[in-house]
Amino acid sequence: MKKKFGQNFLKNQQIISEIINFCQISKESSVYEIGPGDGALTREVIKINPKKFIAVEIDIGLKDRLDILFNNKRHQIIYADALKFEETSNFTDKTIVIGNLPYNISIQLLIKWIHQYSKKKWIKTMILMFQKEVAERIVSDENSKKYGRITLLASALFNISFLMNINKNDFFPIPKVDSTLLKFEPLETPHLDEVQIYKLEFLSNQLFSSRRKKLKNKIEALFNPQIIKKNNLEQYYDLRAENLSRDIFFSLAKLLQ
Ligand code: SAM
Repeated sequence: MKKKFGQNFLKNQQIISEIINFCQISKESSVYEIGPGDGALTREVIKINPKKFIAVEIDIGLKDRLDILFNNKRHQIIYADALKFEETSNFTDKTIVIGNLPYNISIQLLIKWIHQYSKKKWIKTMILMFQKEVAERIVSDENSKKYGRITLLASALFNISFLMNINKNDFFPIPKVDSTLLKFEPLETPHLDEVQIYKLEFLSNQLFSSRRKKLKNKIEALFNPQIIKKNNLEQYYDLRAENLSRDIFFSLAKLLQ
């Protein structure tokens, strides 16, 4: 087991079946799995026999165990870093993205897919497992310490729902913390486009960089006086970043030049 790759493998068959049920994979599906590990979810996907299936695993040491699962031409295992994998050129159909994500890169992967999806609508749904604390940040609401950049970026394009918590004892080796499974469904009309997503990322980095500070100085530094006046941005001067709703953040991202 390689700690550096965040290898905690699911061992509870009941949980594995529940996760797979949530994924709603059919023979017509296009499926992408990140980090198959020793194949807990992978085996179940292959049993369903979707039209297309690509799994990306960084650890070549798992090759012997994984290669034997992939004996169908439409199913492919690629040994590569998922952070560098070009999903948009590999998936032409809308794809179901699944994974018990390596904890150390889960947010990086999610942000990568958010930027990609804002350019090309390649995702059907994503059923993803995160450390519980990270999942709580993703689904947080304003006025909470957990609310931040990742909450905003994800909800600009996706409707996110909680599916279930998974106890740390359901993994081997047992990790330090519990996990949570989330579902991401693309919004019919995304709140922001490709360029605006970058603006939202910049804006949230700026405004959350000093969480406890009121926003006056930041707003004056980021927006010119005409925009502040025309849009009555002074109303936010005495608030902190975590007090601004998602909708306010989306509007501010659109105003950023
Ligand atoms: N899916 C398996 C399961 O649920 O039992 C394994 C999940 S384990 C938490 C994460 C997996 O992601 C490991 O197999 C690990 O080697 C792999 N992994 C880690 N970093 C990766 C990366 N950058 N690209 C692709 N896979 C990675």
